[in-house]
Amino acid sequence: MTSVAVLRHAPLVRSVQSRALAVASSSSSVRTTSDVAIPSVSKNNQESRVLLGMSEQDLQQLALEFAKVQRQTTASFVVQRKVKEIQDFSHLPLAFRNELQEAGWSVGRSPIYKEVTAADGTVKLLIKLQDNRLVETVGIPVEDNKGSLRLTACVSSQVGCPLRCSFCATGKGGFSRNLKSHEIVEQVLAIEEIFKRRVTNVVFMGMGEPMLNMKEVLEAHRCLNKDIQIGQRMITISSVGVPNTIRKLASHKLQSTLAISLHAPNQKLREKIVPSAKSYPLDAIMKDCKDYFLQTSRRVSFEYTLLAGVNDAVEHAIELAELLHEWGPGSHVNLIPFNPIEGSEYQRPYKKSVLAFSAALESRKVTASVRQTRGLDASAACGQLRNEFQKIPLPGRSSRDVYELLSAVEQGKVDLIEAPDIELTKAMDREYG
Ligand code: SF4
Repeated sequence: MTSVAVLRHAPLVRSVQSRALAVASSSSSVRTTSDVAIPSVSKNNQESRVLLGMSEQDLQQLALEFAKVQRQTTASFVVQRKVKEIQDFSHLPLAFRNELQEAGWSVGRSPIYKEVTAADGTVKLLIKLQDNRLVETVGIPVEDNKGSLRLTACVSSQVGCPLRCSFCATGKGGFSRNLKSHEIVEQVLAIEEIFKRRVTNVVFMGMGEPMLNMKEVLEAHRCLNKDIQIGQRMITISSVGVPNTIRKLASHKLQSTLAISLHAPNQKLREKIVPSAKSYPLDAIMKDCKDYFLQTSRRVSFEYTLLAGVNDAVEHAIELAELLHEWGPGSHVNLIPFNPIEGSEYQRPYKKSVLAFSAALESRKVTASVRQTRGLDASAACGQLRNEFQKIPLPGRSSRDVYELLSAVEQGKVDLIEAPDIELTKAMDREYG
């Protein structure tokens, strides 16, 4: 902050950006908008009028715009902690707080609807959003070999998911909408509050396909990195593959890990497990991953859910190793033994199959790790807990709809990245009626 004007409002900026601001769990009130001058902040924040997740620049602009209206200084304001409501900024002038509130601004926190703790300490939360939709987030505490504690937040990027991977509880629950960046950020803050310590790692592996909501995911990434001070290398963005998006993500040159959910070593099997794969052939994904590595120097990791008798044979491991070697060195595979979900056609693989698969990769110089299943007694699979409380699936789309949508994205007819505020559902409705 350089100008005098901005310095006058630095306390607002600092207080809103302090991670403690958002270390709160109760609902932020929804205020009605009034005719007070609308600050010239980014369109997205202007629409949602939520302070959480705003960039420093936008916060400065907000303070300046409001000051024009009421000409009050906020110099006496000190950093507050555990702010849930705008009125909790007790050191801001009351008139300023009222102005913000009357213009429809809120801190942007949602209540925790359900909290479940597993025996291993994993905590799964259901957060109830302003429109009453439920979204899952998971906190996973891990002690490493040196005894230091890591706390990973597994965050959702969409309410549900339209891609309907055949093994996934979230896909079975249907799709509602993309999350706003602050709705992603608040998941991390909710986990911090529950554990009363800082989140060290964030993985975008919860509900939804992050690449179908790239703008908000990137904005949340910025906030998590710059404002909440989580290192870029501690953030992983996962994707099952959406045409054109890996290249776009690479162009941002983030130092974060890209995790591609492969689940099969060849196109034919992949299409059975991941219906959306029809629109994005395996070779094209692998080429884009190679380009991602060349542009960012960050190794791409590959997620592979092991489904008993479907994709867990040693032959599949050999084929996978060949595929990864074909597209370049330095790949890492995360093997995920399937978590059983209600109504699924799939079974969890035997431990000996998992070990044989892993050994076959390692012997072909592909590094592999087997993900420990955390929180099995807390509905471990992504989307399971949400489905328990939302028995009626959200309106979903057929595999054909999804295939057509992704084809349209690939052909440039629908650009979910350049026009990210188009909700996926609306885009699909407009294209396919
Ligand atoms: S695995 Fe991921 S992309 Fe596939 S349906 Fe589930 S949330 Fe969506």
